[in-house]
Formats: sequence, C-alpha cells, structure tokens
Amino acid sequence: MKQFAIFGNPVEHSISPLMHNLAFQAFNLNANYSKHKLEDGKALKDLFNTLGLSGANVTVPHKEVAYELCDEIKGVAKKIQAINTIIKQNDKLIGYNTDAPGFIMAIHDFLPLKSALIIGAGGTAKAIACALMQENLHVSLVNRSEARLQSFKNLDISTFTWDNFKPKAFDLVINTTSAGLNDDLLPLPQDLLTPTLQNTKFAFDVIYHKITPFISLCKKNNLTCKDGKDMLLYQGVLAFNLFFENKFNEKSIITSMKQAFIS
Ligand code: NDP
Repeated sequence: MKQFAIFGNPVEHSISPLMHNLAFQAFNLNANYSKHKLEDGKALKDLFNTLGLSGANVTVPHKEVAYELCDEIKGVAKKIQAINTIIKQNDKLIGYNTDAPGFIMAIHDFLPLKSALIIGAGGTAKAIACALMQENLHVSLVNRSEARLQSFKNLDISTFTWDNFKPKAFDLVINTTSAGLNDDLLPLPQDLLTPTLQNTKFAFDVIYHKITPFISLCKKNNLTCKDGKDMLLYQGVLAFNLFFENKFNEKSIITSMKQAFIS
C-alpha cells in the first residue's frame, strides 16, 4: 500500500486526509493518507523516510523549513521559497508549491485581471503574489507592519504599511491575513478598506468555512466574492496529480475531493 501524509502544527483540523482518501477510493488505489503533528520541522525528512511515504503535504508552520530540506525544488516554489507538496523520486525528495497554481485555478472565473491588492505579508501572501505575477498582474501589497515587506520589495511588488497606503482602484483585493478567522477584525482599517473596495470588482479571502468581516464588507460594497475553499481544493488536486504523475483525469479528482467539503 502506498503511504502519503500531511505534516503541520496544528494539523488536527486538516481535511487533506479526507480529500485524498476520497480520491484514492474513487480511483480504486491501494493507498492511504494520514496526518502527523510535527513540532520540529527539521524532523520532517527523517519522519518522511521512517514512515515509508511516497509523497506528502506540508502545512503551517513548516513550509519554509520543508523548502530547505528537499533535495530539489521545482517550478514556482523556487521563487516563493516555500513548499506544500513533496514527492519521492529515485530516493530524492522533490518539493513543489501547489498553493500558488491552486489559487489561480480558484480565481479562474475572475480572469483576466490587470491589478491586485494583497492584504498581508505572510507565506500565503508570498505564494499568491508569485502566482499573480506569473499571470502578469500588477501586484500591490499592504501589511500591518514593515518587517515582512522586504522579500516582496525584492520581487518588485509595490509595498505599503497601513501608515502610507492610499486607497485606489484594483481589479481584485485578497485577504491573506488571519484577521477574521478567530475574531471580528478586518485585515485593514475600515477607513482604508472601504474606499478601496468601492473601486474594486472582485474579492478573495483565503479563510474558508466562515463568512469573515472582510467578505461581509465586500458583499456590502457589491463585489463578487470567493472564500478559500476552492484554493484548498485545487492545491489538493494538483498535489494528487504530482503524487500519481498526472495519470488521472483532473475533473474526476475534483469531483471526488469535493465531497470532503459537504458537511
Ligand atoms: P502568516 O502567519 O505567515 O502571516 C500572517 C499575516 O497576516 C502577516 O502579514 C500578519 O501581519 C497578518 N495579520 C495577522 N493578524 C492580523 C490582523 N489582526 N490584522 C492585520 N493583519 C494581520 O500566515 P499564513 O500566510 O501562513 O496564513 C494566513 C491565512 O491563510 C491563515 O488564515 C491560513 O489558514 C490561510 N490559508 C489558507 C489556505 C487555503 O488553501 N485556503 C492555504 C494556506 C493558508 P504582521 O506581519 O504585521 O504580523
């Protein structure tokens, strides 16, 4: 039986095992996908090998450490410097980032777009920024504090803090912060966010399973909105494709994995 797993901390809430095991069932594969809470990201490579895994996903907070531990990095992950998918090939661990292309698949209905504003400057913001730049969008980014902006400046992204951000028109505004996840906070002060949204067509929140204050405000301003469910789904579909060398029909993987979201 082929073994797969997700590593993270926390990881109890992850529905990746359900998504992948549903797809294994749908394709009659002799495979299993489990979850592993990992305190120390540096232990990931040894654990991957001890568990005899063929592939794995990596979630918060180990995506950057996993990037360092892999023997080879492929695709957009090189630019993001963080990975969420590992496959074992000829005894080497190969790292990929499927969050970035997964995000582009999730906003497919919004395309084509010319400009986007990313709110937040964490790992998810980096993946989304690189994905949007590959699609030739002009990307701006605003964050609560200055410290994390340098790596975005290095990518030629226009960066701002709350102190020097001036509202203007964007095609798409994306919340990549955790504001609204376990509180009632907006990701940007309302006096900056509302005039921005009044000149914006589309909004995306990476948070899923809840209507955040950000999405509520976007809806109030008549934007077309999406939450993070499809991004989660598509990063999983793309990871599955990597695990099985693109052998299976993408539409069928989507159909089977989608059942994980029916609660
Ligand atoms: P990080 O911890 O790397 O980054 C968090 C960012 O959010 C920082 O820029 C931080 O600002 C900002 N932030 C946090 N709290 C607030 C607040 N109250 N107001 C304004 N800004 C705030 O997080 P990740 O990038 O790893 O994850 C972010 C979110 O994305 C999580 O909610 C996660 O669940 C979700 N996610 C969703 C995925 C999906 O598939 N849908 C995939 C991956 C993640 P500062 O720098 O000032 O601290």
